[in-house]
Amino acid sequence: MKIPVGVLGATGMVGQHFVKFLQGHPQFELTWVGASDRSSGKKYRDATSWRLDGAMPESVADLTVTDCKPGNAPKLMFSATDSSVATEIEQAFAKAGHVVVSNSKNHRMDEDVPLLVPEINPHHLSIAKRQKETRGWDGLIVTNPNCSTIVLTLALAPLQQFGLERVVVTTMQAISGAGYPGVPSMDITANVVPHIGGEEDKVETETQKIMGGVADGRFVPLTTRVSAHCNRVQVVDGHMAAVSVELTRKPSLAEVRAAFDSYRGRPQELGLPSAPARPVIYMEQQDRPQPRRDVERERGMAVFVGRLRECPVFDYKFMALGHNTVRGAAGAAVLNAELMLAEGML
Ligand code: NAP
Repeated sequence: MKIPVGVLGATGMVGQHFVKFLQGHPQFELTWVGASDRSSGKKYRDATSWRLDGAMPESVADLTVTDCKPGNAPKLMFSATDSSVATEIEQAFAKAGHVVVSNSKNHRMDEDVPLLVPEINPHHLSIAKRQKETRGWDGLIVTNPNCSTIVLTLALAPLQQFGLERVVVTTMQAISGAGYPGVPSMDITANVVPHIGGEEDKVETETQKIMGGVADGRFVPLTTRVSAHCNRVQVVDGHMAAVSVELTRKPSLAEVRAAFDSYRGRPQELGLPSAPARPVIYMEQQDRPQPRRDVERERGMAVFVGRLRECPVFDYKFMALGHNTVRGAAGAAVLNAELMLAEGML
């Protein structure tokens, strides 16, 4: 028996990625789709302008879209609602006893809400219990990070054993990260836009929360200083990051390389269905990873690293690539739910 699940904001760009990613899932079955008043009451096929490659899944096309109010929705809800309404909607569902696994930014930095990357901080899930005391909810909210933060944190996680002193990251972010219709073609064609509203702050602060610890039932953010430059580039899918790191212990290049190769986390230990066999894959070729060639590998769930070399300013520098709408959005949330199921939280 599969667990029924719903998607809040199912008609939007990220919602469609949830619909696609959940097709054929061995544990979860999408039975409920929610959106705004504009869509509720319509069949999913009529309410949605399907913008992903491949056809809209038949099993979902005939579902009737519901407004985003708790009632007959399944206990496990994925959220991809517009951020202007996500706070109110997600809280109403958590209050009514639902487990909300959210992709929206609204609750990511809350003191009692885990910002989860299952390989890095599965122990942060323990804090979610506080929501019952602090908010009086029967359900709870868990979030996944911003799409570039997840690429950076997975690439940094293997190096955490050496002590992370300082990190400088420059991102080259795909246009799909801006949703639909996204950045106007007149702005992005043959161009780089060196500003993505709020992104640099998210990369810097979310990284510290994710890679920090837990003490006395509270998150203790990492004190490593992180500086981000975020740019939008003319790539369809796949966020790249050029990363420079200063490390406390000075490992050799071979030790850093071995750290990338051997890195595994709780999802790999548990064999979670959406977990890549290796969450971080080092590519030997001098000119890889590349978004067009590598982003779809491993179902978009791994982060690809390459071009590791010594840095004359910090200690090492390298490139990282991840799929922004899969590992950076829907796939990340589904992996979070798989972890929660395995840990007995659903
Ligand atoms: P989107 O395409 O504009 O979709 C928004 C969704 O929210 C639609 O299903 C829409 O339903 C629904 N919605 C809007 N107003 C609503 C209301 N008042 N009540 C209930 N539902 C409402 O946006 P998106 O790009 O998918 O982004 C969704 C969320 O994911 C945002 O919080 C965003 O920050 C986050 N996110 C996006 C990306 C990305 O790559 N785009 C990546 C990471 C995170 P209707 O179709 O009925 O209007």
